[in-house]
Amino acid sequence: MIEQAQLRENLERIESAIHDACRRAGRKRSEVELMAVSKTYPASTILEAARLGLRSFGENRVQEFAGKSAELAPLRVNGATAASDTPILVHLIGHLQSNKAAKAAELFDAIDSLDSLRLAERLNEAAAKLHKRLPVLIEVKLSEEETKAGIDPESSEAAALLETLPGLDSLHCRGLMTIAPWGVPESQTRACFRSLREWRDRWAAAHQRLNLDVLSMGMSGDFAIAIEEGATRIRIGTALFGKRPPMEAQRAAFPEDFVE
Ligand SMILES: *Cc1c(COP(=O)(O)O)cnc(C)c1O
Repeated sequence: MIEQAQLRENLERIESAIHDACRRAGRKRSEVELMAVSKTYPASTILEAARLGLRSFGENRVQEFAGKSAELAPLRVNGATAASDTPILVHLIGHLQSNKAAKAAELFDAIDSLDSLRLAERLNEAAAKLHKRLPVLIEVKLSEEETKAGIDPESSEAAALLETLPGLDSLHCRGLMTIAPWGVPESQTRACFRSLREWRDRWAAAHQRLNLDVLSMGMSGDFAIAIEEGATRIRIGTALFGKRPPMEAQRAAFPEDFVE
């Protein structure tokens, strides 16, 4: 587990890089939300990060987070926190199969990886049953990589999703999310982030009933570029918490998360 002092030092370093990127881009620090990506780290790490003031967390798997959620309950929206405390918000940022939609709607405060119409309908039904209005981001695939999740912005399904979302009363669309391609030149990373912003501007003009204010883009390796290109939320894992365990160890620990 990461030491509090190390975590504090990492956070300070990231904060300083966020400030620099904001200054270069002529933006205010308050325009960029820092999400701590806590996937693969134990609940105790989330508690440590919350003690340092972090309030937004990203998790990528349902079963894994189900195991941590009890320990975090006092810090969450309906927890036993003093009224003066700001609750932490936990977002799902990993791909969600529609058969896990009900569980996810129950466990998470927001779903940032909405990537199909079918999933939107399932989440809407599940949220309605829970008397919840669930914030969502549409995950957009802007890279050719097969492994990347998200909806093709030029597809008829994307068009249908944008048309349908305003009528799904138990979902609250807040914006878009993307993951930039790995190991490519900086110019390509930048082009990906710029493209997300352009899709947002185009879609916001065409769908005035949709709220698309949030642009969730940028991770440990590329967040400064994302801020320069208009990110309103960056998602930081390794730069904050250190290296994650290898995928095989994760698979062994949470087999249900890997069942298709
Ligand atoms: C893991 C993950 C991150 C964080 O990645 P780091 O490179 O560790 O900062 C951000 N977004 C998504 C969708 C992720 O799955």
